[in-house]
Amino acid sequence: MKFILIALLSVIFISACKKDNSTRFKYVERIPIMDEIYKVDADSETEPIRAEVGADAADDPAVWIHPSDPTKSIIYGSNKLGGIAAYDLTGKEIMYTEQGSVNNIDIAYNLKLKDETIDICGGSNRTRDAIDIYKIDPETGGLEYILEERVISTVSSVYGFCFYHSQITSINYALVSGKDGVIEQYEIIEGNEKLSLKLVSTFSVPSMPEGIVADHKHGFIYVGEEDECVWKVGAEPGVRNMVKLGYSIRANNDNIKYDIEGLAIYYTSSDYGYLLVSSQGNSSYAIFTRTNDNAYIGSFQIEDGVVDGTTETDGIDVVNLNLGSDFPLGAFIVQDNINDEADHVLPQNFKMVDWGKIANLFDPPLLIDSNFNVRELFK
Ligand code: CA
Ligand code: CA
Ligand code: CA
Ligand code: CA
Ligand code: CA
Ligand code: CA
Repeated sequence: MKFILIALLSVIFISACKKDNSTRFKYVERIPIMDEIYKVDADSETEPIRAEVGADAADDPAVWIHPSDPTKSIIYGSNKLGGIAAYDLTGKEIMYTEQGSVNNIDIAYNLKLKDETIDICGGSNRTRDAIDIYKIDPETGGLEYILEERVISTVSSVYGFCFYHSQITSINYALVSGKDGVIEQYEIIEGNEKLSLKLVSTFSVPSMPEGIVADHKHGFIYVGEEDECVWKVGAEPGVRNMVKLGYSIRANNDNIKYDIEGLAIYYTSSDYGYLLVSSQGNSSYAIFTRTNDNAYIGSFQIEDGVVDGTTETDGIDVVNLNLGSDFPLGAFIVQDNINDEADHVLPQNFKMVDWGKIANLFDPPLLIDSNFNVRELFK
């Protein structure tokens, strides 16, 4: 029976190739039927988050790219029981700020105040049901609250968070998803010394979303509806095009298991690149193309390596740039639910994996572009 199935799939695959051999991305769409999940070793980890062992505290990483030297970039990690931590690329904690239950976080670059240009970290703060935005100190990683006044969301419990920078208008936006399915989009207004937010648009998905991420180049917001699929939504405020990614729908893909959690974009200098999706229910990560109708490429898990592997991941981020000798081809950064050591367990943390290893799991390998800098999209 299995042989017949494989033979049948081969025929379908060969005929699919005949129809369209202009792109390799069609090739891999057959993987969900084959049900294979690749494995890669974890390379390194951050120090534990500040919480009790067993507490679900670490949630979402977001990497700030240093303006002149990417090896000095900083990994921010949300602690939904306390605030935001910052780690250097060896995983050492270099800053911690108590801010309440910050759930998801993201980074944006080159915002203009009267006398300075700043980079910012923002997040959904469940303590206040607020949208928080902080100015990043490039020397220390320190975060300074930079909004003119507190912004309380109208969604029922803030959950996901991302920034979007429009290539059309150069406007920066902050988006927050609520547990009620509503996503708010705020325009970020640059003042003399502070920023402020103005709600400009809302849209919604049928059931609870969390992870949201913007493709700043192509102008889309991806929304993870936890129990259903990933949505692709036009990022400009106003009339929205909303489509489901076909192979992100759980019913269409055995490799996607509830919850759909963190989302991240792998950028390249071309229009190509990837959307990465944390499939929490089977501790795996699914890869979709950014173009070609978001074809599904495949999934992988992170096993024990130099450090312990990852399970039940919440947030993720990915960096394509050369991050130094440990990660010359970039890194995938993920939250880990259980931070094992040889003979004991520590509080949760974040793991890092060499992007080159992930890229080479696949045949053909994924694109590796260690030159394009996402900062170029924030002008
Ligand atoms: Ca969790
Ligand atoms: Ca994030
Ligand atoms: Ca969740
Ligand atoms: Ca682990
Ligand atoms: Ca989460
Ligand atoms: Ca560990």
